This record gives sequence, structure tokens and C-alpha cells, in this order.
Amino acid sequence: MPMNISKSQILFERSKALSPGGVHSPVRAFRGVGGTPRFIARAQGSKLFDVDGNSYIDFCNAWGPMIFGHQDAEIREEVEKALSDGWSLGTAEPYSLALAELVHECVPAVEKIRFVNSGTEAVMSALRVARAATGRNLILKFDGCYHGHVDSMLVRAGSGLAEMASPDSAGVSKSVANETLVAPLDDDQGYKDIFAKHGSQIAAVILEPIPANNGLLLQRESWIREVMAEAKRHGSLVIFDEVITGFRVGLGGMAGALGVRPDLLTYGKVIGGGFPVGAFGGRKDLLDLVAPSGPVYQAGTLSANPVAMRAGLAMVKKLKRTNPYQDLRTKAENLSRALEKKASTKGVSLTVQNASSMFWTVFGGENSTTVRNISKIPAAHKEIYTHGFHKMLDRGFYMAPSAFEVSFLSTAHTQAELDSFVEAFGESL
Ligand SMILES: *Cc1c(COP(=O)(O)O)cnc(C)c1O
Repeated sequence: MPMNISKSQILFERSKALSPGGVHSPVRAFRGVGGTPRFIARAQGSKLFDVDGNSYIDFCNAWGPMIFGHQDAEIREEVEKALSDGWSLGTAEPYSLALAELVHECVPAVEKIRFVNSGTEAVMSALRVARAATGRNLILKFDGCYHGHVDSMLVRAGSGLAEMASPDSAGVSKSVANETLVAPLDDDQGYKDIFAKHGSQIAAVILEPIPANNGLLLQRESWIREVMAEAKRHGSLVIFDEVITGFRVGLGGMAGALGVRPDLLTYGKVIGGGFPVGAFGGRKDLLDLVAPSGPVYQAGTLSANPVAMRAGLAMVKKLKRTNPYQDLRTKAENLSRALEKKASTKGVSLTVQNASSMFWTVFGGENSTTVRNISKIPAAHKEIYTHGFHKMLDRGFYMAPSAFEVSFLSTAHTQAELDSFVEAFGESL
């Protein structure tokens, strides 16, 4: 029997009249999968509860921050304390210092840090610092990596002048797009050709060390190291965008996992405990370029908001104390293999790519080939995922409402819930 979603339908109609697409961030509108987005009234642990009274086991995880699930008791307690101390101060305060010290301890490459309000802001500011530090204008990014909605990052590989980017959003000027160069992921030559031609003008190369916003495009470690080495040879900085991977794959993020020191790193999602927080950090000499120490202007009325800082602090402290990473990795690995097994018994082609507690179901490809590049995403994937998404939703499992977004596990998911997910997945196939 289909779920009753009549209240969501009514709210969606009213929202569409007042906000673009009825939402405040595009993928929430379900455009990629069709149908009515569920209006979620409340979340607890591993579950979402919609306005019609339906419940779902949540694999979207608010897009990544909720690694302990919703309403984690320790974070909640700290937020309640923070509220009773006043929720916006606009002054120097001790909470951002405590979080900065903890991040520095977890990620030594973060010698200094500045807190902002979103991942987008973090990237925007890191790029500004890179340009100021090098006196160069060009930025090299990779096709399939997402770095927030910064103008210069809303670009894709252009068709004409080989590597020159084209705007990927209306409202981004050609001249801004022209300052970004785009290379393919997992390609040993593409970025090298660009460096050979423009190396002396490239301020920085920016990458998601695990690209997780256009599918989960697992990169070879040797490839990442070689990109970093090539940047260094040309005097360009390396920016690791760890907005998803930071504190998600381990306390040290991917910089820690690879044992490398990017010049600049950006954070968001997990670092704010589910509140609007971003951060950029890295080499001390680079962060000292930022106002008021240096000439790079950057500011924020609500930056280092005490509620958000204390939520982030409770989050990172708990991660450090409980170290859930190995357990989460094992759960995701077992789940991925169980889904593949279900698919193979039904004769459906499926590879589940997973990294730490993130996983991505790839339909319609050749089994046991890893998709590392957007051009390798199988043509049939989107349609199959979309059908599957709705069948899972009807059975009470909320996966990301897009074939190109990843799913997340949290410590709140029980083994019984994961087993029921595998069962429902089998039925949906
Ligand atoms: C989510 C994300 C961003 C953007 O962060 P917002 O907080 O949504 O602005 C940037 N980079 C990466 C890698 C992300 O995953």
C-alpha cells in the first residue's frame, strides 16, 4: 500500500509558490528522482519522521554531518548549555579556541584555522588566500569534484580551448570561469598538460581527496600524490577540500589517512555537529595573510557562533573518545557486499563503491570495475537508481534523492536496520 503523503504534498505546493522549486537547496526538491519531497518534521537517531507520520531509516544523514545520528545526547546536552549562555556573542569567546586546538591536534597540517559558516565560504576564502599568497590568478580543479557554489567553482570542462572551463551555472561570468582550469579525475596526463602550459600562473590545485558529490569517485592514492607533487614542482599550492571527508573518514581526514600535508584544507559538515559551520586552515604563513593579521579580507557576523562551535566541539571530542571509524567502515563494507550479493542473485548489475562510512550504488556497469571518473558512470545508472530510490522510500528507507549523491552510515544505525535495508533492497530489485 502506498504511503499517505498528503500533508507533504500540500506543503510542497505552498512552498513552490514562495521559494524556488519549493526548497532552499536544490537536491531537496527531488527533481533528480521525481515525486514529492517528504517534509520531515523531526529526526531522532537513525530515523526521520515526516509530517504525515511516516518514518524512514535515514541514509542521507543531512548530507553528511550526522555521524552519530540525529539528536546525539552529548551534542544535545552541550547545545542546551550553550543556549543558556547566549546564542550569539559577536566577540572573542573561548569555544572556537577549544575547537581550533582540538582540530589542530587531530590534523597537524592545520597549523592555523578560521571558522566560517559553510563549506562554500571556506572554499571561497581558501581560494582568495591562495591567490594572495602566490600572486597568481588561475585555479585548477577536477571535473566531478564539487566545492560549493563559489562562482569560480561552478564550472565544467569546456569544449573549446581544451582545458578552459565554461560556466556551469547561469550568472557565472565567462571571465570568472576563464580563471578556472579543469582536468579529468584519475587521468595521469590531463593535469600535467595543463601545468605544462599554465603552471607559472596556477595559484592552487583544489581537489576532494575522495570525490563524493558526483557519485563516490574513488581515486588512486598514487594519483593524488602525483597531483600534489606536480603542483609543488610548479610552485602552486594544494588545497584539500575535506568538507565531506574531514572527521568523516577518520580524525585526520584524508590528509591524515594519506600522511600528507596540503597547504590549505577546507572543512564543513561533521565539524559543526550539524550546525552551520565551515572552516579553512593550513600553513601558518598562509593563514597569517588573513585579516586582521594580513591583507586578505575575510569576516562574518555569525562566524564562530557559540552554539555551533560547542556542537562541533562536542562532536569532535566524542569522535576522539569513541573512535567509531573502524566499526563504521566494517559496517559499510559488509553492507556494500551484502547489497551486491542480493543484486547478483536477482541478475542485476550492481557495484557498491564504499569508502569509510560512505557508499554509492552504481547500477548498470560492468561488475568489479571501479568508477573513478564521471565519464565512466554507466549510462543506465540514473534510471535504475531512480526506480530503486522510490521503492526504498515506500518501504521506509530514505536514501539520497539523487543518483549522484552518496549514502552515509551513522553509529545510530543498528545491525537489524541494516539487515532490513538489505532485505528491502532485494525486494526492490
Ligand atoms: C558540501 C560540500 C561543499 C559545500 O559546503 P556547503 O556547506 O554546502 O556550502 C564543498 N565541498 C565539498 C567537498 C562538499 O562536500
